[in-house]
Amino acid sequence: MRRRFVAANWKMNGSRARNRQLLDALKPPLRSLGGRVDIVVCPSHLHLGETVSALAGSPVRPGAQDLFGLENGAMTGEISASMLVDCGAEFVIVGHSERRGRLGETDAAVAAKFAAARAAGLVPILCVGETRAERDAGNTEAVVLRQLDAVTGEHGIEAMDGAVIAYEPVWAIGSGTAATPEQAQAVHALLRARLREQSGAIADGARILYGGSISAANARELFAQPDIDGGLVGGASLKAEEFTAICAGADS
Ligand code: PEP
Repeated sequence: MRRRFVAANWKMNGSRARNRQLLDALKPPLRSLGGRVDIVVCPSHLHLGETVSALAGSPVRPGAQDLFGLENGAMTGEISASMLVDCGAEFVIVGHSERRGRLGETDAAVAAKFAAARAAGLVPILCVGETRAERDAGNTEAVVLRQLDAVTGEHGIEAMDGAVIAYEPVWAIGSGTAATPEQAQAVHALLRARLREQSGAIADGARILYGGSISAANARELFAQPDIDGGLVGGASLKAEEFTAICAGADS
């Protein structure tokens, strides 16, 4: 049985004061959940250190939103995996669609980031997902498999051992309309089947999250699907009550 997993992607939101308030509101209710779900919050890089300190003694664990694919050197403004580890991160989001789509991040760059994260001991949360145009053209399967294969093709199936994948249809992110549980389950099953072609054990252990307009109202139904192991939550993770309810929905 896979443990459930819910990650908060705070994106380019927050301030030191606002994050403190949000964590103060989240920690007590999340501590009283039943312990069946791993909960991660991913603040901006600037706020990572303070978030790590604020989470001391809490079951909620710190993650980052991105990293660069090289260890160190002349890359002004970028952040390496070892810097994230040094500041206390345990997880890192890799290949979010906002970075792929708006910042031109390629499959190869995402694969390099994924490998750098693993090499430093971070757990990568690999995002895959199709745009509306790709879905309408019937290309959903080809797109998400290409994005997954870009990592396993370069770094082998072992790279996915213990990793987390997030299926995030781009058309659902921030739209207020999530994929239906059936739409999401179909893609999750496809991704797991792709892993299974290379390793049954890794396929069985991989946690595949759904992301895209998850809310307290739709979380339980999504998480009830056999291949949906939790969620990557954007907008709703900035509201303490809403995020707590989503985590509670995964904790059953
Ligand atoms: C995301 O961008 O990772 C995300 C899931 O956003 P939202 O929940 O706001 O759709």
